[in-house]
Amino acid sequence: MDSQRYQTVLLFGAPGAGKGTQGAILGRIPGFFHLSCGEVFRSLDIHSELGSVFYEYSSKGELVPDDVTVKMWAENMHAQTVLSLYKPHDDLLLLDGIPRNVKQAEIMEKYIKVLGIIHLVCRDKEAMIKRLRRRALKENRIDDAQEDVIRRRWDIYERETAPVLDFYPKNLIHEVDAVGSPSSVLQHVLQVVVPIQDSHFNNPISGE
Ligand code: AMP
Repeated sequence: MDSQRYQTVLLFGAPGAGKGTQGAILGRIPGFFHLSCGEVFRSLDIHSELGSVFYEYSSKGELVPDDVTVKMWAENMHAQTVLSLYKPHDDLLLLDGIPRNVKQAEIMEKYIKVLGIIHLVCRDKEAMIKRLRRRALKENRIDDAQEDVIRRRWDIYERETAPVLDFYPKNLIHEVDAVGSPSSVLQHVLQVVVPIQDSHFNNPISGE
């Protein structure tokens, strides 16, 4: 069964911790494939059935129901493999924004083998909220434009998402300080993911 599961590292942390920034950088390196669940949702046509479900929940800062989310994620992953954008035997999968609660983690056990978890830690909630508001203005994100929606996203993170850390063995969790420049955070993230990538995959030859 293990050989059929996607070999995965989870990018974990509160909204605004920098999961997407780190994931986007790492995803450009051969041998890594980054997928952000929120980005997949945002790419949906808002007039489609799923797009309107997403809008209904995300505009309030709430999570989309688990069954719909995991089904969409699994279909998207499959499409990425069919298109050879993600090659499960060559690439370490970096998941960002999923699983978002313990129920999703349970459902996803059959799809993913979690090799490590990068927990981007920021204890300064107000600094993160500032970061989110800046991003909302730049990226035109409805969910982070309003302070009450941001706070709701944080509450849901603390209540539903943080317990996901207890679902996985402690030795898989690597805490990384999320405060600092993207490059200094990246340096610490690389210290975790490079050994995992090295020990599970044949390394791509640089320049290929
Ligand atoms: P994100 O960009 O990860 O903050 O996600 C933006 C929004 O997409 C969230 O507030 C949720 O409404 C929805 N979303 C993203 N990932 C998930 C997930 N794994 N489960 C449920 N909803 C999600």
